[in-house]
Amino acid sequence: MVTKIYVKKTKNRGKGIFAKKYIKKGETIATVKGKIFTIKNLKDVKAKRLDDNYLHQIDWNKFINNETITKFTNHSCEPNAMVKEKLPTCRLMALKNIKKGEEITVDYDTFDSGLLGTFKCKCKSKNCRKIIKGYKYLPEKLRKELKKKYRAYIAKYLLKPQKNSNAIMCDIQS
Ligand SMILES: [Zn+2]
Repeated sequence: MVTKIYVKKTKNRGKGIFAKKYIKKGETIATVKGKIFTIKNLKDVKAKRLDDNYLHQIDWNKFINNETITKFTNHSCEPNAMVKEKLPTCRLMALKNIKKGEEITVDYDTFDSGLLGTFKCKCKSKNCRKIIKGYKYLPEKLRKELKKKYRAYIAKYLLKPQKNSNAIMCDIQS
């Protein structure tokens, strides 16, 4: 696939990915791929020297260690793209028409359960949730809203009961 994106420094959010050309709503922008691995607890991430910023979660205890430039995709509470699962890879898809030079963003809460920590959102959108913690920590009302808005794009595992919760959740507290 011809690359439709490039990496550039953003003003306030580190690196981001940007559109090389006009991208139409519904188009596949790029692929999210890398080695898939299972963790028993978060120490595994450090033990394997994985950078948790670039982990794309696909199950309660499974991640893709993203090795493509899509790993620089920033979060927005009002994104113009989303990640569609097609395991063993995922596709970054345009939710809206995206202009050449525009930053491409996704909503992390549609695939992160909440294992990889929290951050302050600087997306400045009207509906900004301010602190991004992961799907598991969203109030029920917001979950419903996200499900309605992004139905086909919420990671499938998030809609199923949690597996191995104890082992992993204990570790987050420490
Ligand atoms: Zn936000």
